[in-house]
Amino acid sequence: MPQANAKLNAFPVFVRVEGETVAIVGAGAEALAKARLIGQSSAVLRIIAENAEPELLAFIAQSGASHVTAAYDASQLEGAVMVFAASGDEALDRRVAADARGLGIPVNAVDRPELCDFFTPALVNRAPVAIAIGTEGAGPVLAQMLRGRIDQMLSPSLGSLATLAASLRGAAEKLLPKGNARRRFWNSFFQGAPAYAVEAGQLSQAHDAAVDLLLSNAPPLGHIALVGAGPGAEDLLTLRAHRLLMEADVIVHDALVPEAVVAMGRRDAERLPVGKRKGCHSKSQAEINALLVELGQQGKRVVRLKSGDPLVFGRAGEEMAALRDAGIAYEVVPGVTAAFAAAADFELPLTLRGVSSSMVFTTGHDLKGNSLPDWAKLAISGATVAIYMGRSVAAEVAGRLIEAGLSPDTAVAVVENASLANRRRFHGTLADLPSLEARGDLSGPVMTIIGDAVAGANFERSEPLAAHRNEGAAKAAAERVQP
Ligand code: SAH
Repeated sequence: MPQANAKLNAFPVFVRVEGETVAIVGAGAEALAKARLIGQSSAVLRIIAENAEPELLAFIAQSGASHVTAAYDASQLEGAVMVFAASGDEALDRRVAADARGLGIPVNAVDRPELCDFFTPALVNRAPVAIAIGTEGAGPVLAQMLRGRIDQMLSPSLGSLATLAASLRGAAEKLLPKGNARRRFWNSFFQGAPAYAVEAGQLSQAHDAAVDLLLSNAPPLGHIALVGAGPGAEDLLTLRAHRLLMEADVIVHDALVPEAVVAMGRRDAERLPVGKRKGCHSKSQAEINALLVELGQQGKRVVRLKSGDPLVFGRAGEEMAALRDAGIAYEVVPGVTAAFAAAADFELPLTLRGVSSSMVFTTGHDLKGNSLPDWAKLAISGATVAIYMGRSVAAEVAGRLIEAGLSPDTAVAVVENASLANRRRFHGTLADLPSLEARGDLSGPVMTIIGDAVAGANFERSEPLAAHRNEGAAKAAAERVQP
């Protein structure tokens, strides 16, 4: 909560600079920084620098700013709407500030707040939308930090959306009565179909969707984003995933997505866990499909959060088909799939020059029939194989691959809880792999990577799989003799 008596000593305003001149006095880095900042506007830059440094010269050439190369003189400031004293020389900056004031032009002196009539903000620029952050001297580090956070929250296409909004303002004012109806329209415009279309780069669809919204009184349609949550670490979420989570009304998530990732979403978003963890399906896939369609029909903005990448063993195909059939808009946001996270944890090159140039994503569950699936042939010819959901079929996978001709000495890497602090790494050979099935000490998701490229991984932080080899074999043998 802001303190009741806290007053701003500098009040933010937006100054009209289109076609106006902004003068900057200075030849070095300070002048360049201000020139870059003001260069984001349509102001005409006048840079007063007798001996401009090369970088500033390059900026002037590339931006088309006008360059005054004479020694500084007050007359050079005439006609400007703003002046920056950015020479780095205190005496000169003081003189510039006094001259500007004498001419009635507001002035900013770099790093000399006592000489400033105004301060420049840290800027998030989504022209025509601008967010200016001021700290009244608490420091540029704080301002930049805030800038980074705000920037991350806003779609890169926000500017285009605002431009489209501006072009429709007249029509909206003519067609919709002031008050609720107009407000509803703009809400649906900024959060509904037009916004999603602009985001996808489809400007004409966005325009059509906006016109549809304007002409119909239909309730806004929902939108479902199938979002990859990544392997588990919150900071492996993409910026887009994070933004959608911040905008969502409802988050429908799988059991594998950790609480910390779900918690990155809007605080007041409704959260619907839909289970789907081995052995405890809390909702069937058909029920999940129906739920997404229903939420879409209610006009909700939904994030369907799936572990890893949504299109890798995520049953996204079925969800997308259901949404398409129901005419609900959706999009897919990729995520870091478990194989990539596991490879990173092991510093394991998935492709390795001269060793492996292809990779297979599989579950190993199709090894059960009589014929060998195609991917097994790829494995034998050197592909790196990533096995999802492979723990319960580890023995089958190893046995069938060895039978088919893959060397029992082929390197194997296993990661439980890839990307998370409690990750465990194991290394060994194909001959050791069956032991994985029998281990009782692995409760998290497990990724297995097989292939010659695995030999290029870093085994300094991994335990040998073989330590469990005999125990596993004994347990398997014991199970075989049971009736
Ligand atoms: N869409 C997900 C995969 C879902 S299938 C993705 O792209 O990663 C679930 C399987 O993914 C698990 O059985 C396990 O094999 C793997 N998996 C998911 N997260 C994992 C993690 N953090 N560490 C290791 N394996 C993981």
